[in-house]
Amino acid sequence: MSIQAYNSPVLDRHVMTLNQFPLIARFTTRLRHRARLPFLALTVILQAVACGGTETGSTAPLPTSSARLYEGAVLISGTDSEPIDDSAFLVDDGRIMAVGRRGELALPPGAASVDLSGKTVMPMLVSYHGHVGYQDDLSYDAANYTTATVIDHLNRYAYYGVGAIVSLGTDAGDVVFEIRADQERDMPGRARLLTAGRGLAAPDAGPGAAALRASAVGVTTEVEARDAVRELAGRGVDVVKIWVDDRNGNVEKLEPDLYRAIIDEAHARDLPVIAHVYYAADAADLIEAGVDGFAHLVRDEEMSRPLVEAIANNNILVMPNLGISERGTHREPPEWLDDPLLLESVPPDVITRAKASFERRTSERVDQASTSYATMQRSLASLNAAGAQIVLGADSGVQDHFFGYTELRELELMVAAGLTPLETIQAATSRPAALLGLDDLGQLTAGKQATFIVLDENPLDDIAHIRSITDIFMNGERLDRDALKAEWVGP
Ligand SMILES: [Zn+2]
Repeated sequence: MSIQAYNSPVLDRHVMTLNQFPLIARFTTRLRHRARLPFLALTVILQAVACGGTETGSTAPLPTSSARLYEGAVLISGTDSEPIDDSAFLVDDGRIMAVGRRGELALPPGAASVDLSGKTVMPMLVSYHGHVGYQDDLSYDAANYTTATVIDHLNRYAYYGVGAIVSLGTDAGDVVFEIRADQERDMPGRARLLTAGRGLAAPDAGPGAAALRASAVGVTTEVEARDAVRELAGRGVDVVKIWVDDRNGNVEKLEPDLYRAIIDEAHARDLPVIAHVYYAADAADLIEAGVDGFAHLVRDEEMSRPLVEAIANNNILVMPNLGISERGTHREPPEWLDDPLLLESVPPDVITRAKASFERRTSERVDQASTSYATMQRSLASLNAAGAQIVLGADSGVQDHFFGYTELRELELMVAAGLTPLETIQAATSRPAALLGLDDLGQLTAGKQATFIVLDENPLDDIAHIRSITDIFMNGERLDRDALKAEWVGP
């Protein structure tokens, strides 16, 4: 259908290209407080600059409405519904007002249309497992944990299409709570932050990485465990994280009576409990204890049918978290470390360091890791076949698991393990959004926030097309990815 068909006799259609959009990139905390009204005023001025006086001397009228009608893209809603091949969706005031096929939605008076023919659109991702604040180029350290660092990480997530991230248990101090409160006041031009605050474990038995270790709270008695949950609830955490792992016999494992007390106390405050787990036996007991989700697959053995069924029947969410284990299967640095898309946010010296981490690997260790990884893939396929609630969680922010890019890689690994691209996208958008109560994210449907990714190619044809990001819109505003990239790696 020709775009002419939409021209009303009294109002010429104003067609914008993506490049004519005003841009958002809020680098500093100060900008977060920019009032919305002046920003909208600026938008109108920028549009006048961008759209008035074109070379062709076009006399098309300037848009007088803030509404935009996006037409022609393949639309993946993030739900289990089939994509709309030649879609139209109307955005106004940061919201999706209507979704349909091209031709079904009228262009409101004074609004501009945006031609997305050949593109694919989908909701921004919601990732349930990251660790903000520690990575700063070559340094990986708790000393890097500042407001500016965390905001930079949230920008990196947004750059790669992650619209919300749960920082899972390594956030000591006030920084995440302050950022989250700011985000609640003002729609962020970066990934929305949720947090578990400080996760709970046996003393010195939390995160594996040394830089993260002190962030966990060690508990040894039921009273301590309940007090710790009450304190977290008082701070307003979004979830509670626990570690139940002896790290190959090297640390104490959180005792069952303690995690039962934690789960009980958390549930009394409507907080879900997400467990880092390694052993199948612990996973089974955690389900008995009422845990809400697993931050990893079981990794000591293939998940048995009873365990898979217990997970599915109890609606336990499971994060495959494949990326970290998949790294172990490579003797040489994997090719994605040279992906131009990754190099848009990661400078060369950091890539060199990441590659060097592959240098001292023995064939024996690589073989072991490959066998173990194949087991994880089979477990994930079983969980999916049983209808378990699989949710994106990729441990981004652990050293050399780069913010946002790691999530894109994870989607590819989930498909390689047997999920369909549509199932994988659902596990990375609408499902985690619903589980986290992010009612306005995770779906490209009417009434939701206009927070979406524009892709050159369709990820339902090949999930690797998730890397073909051309644009990100958050709350209806176009993210200035070029400015972010320039800040990280230069123009
Ligand atoms: Zn983690």
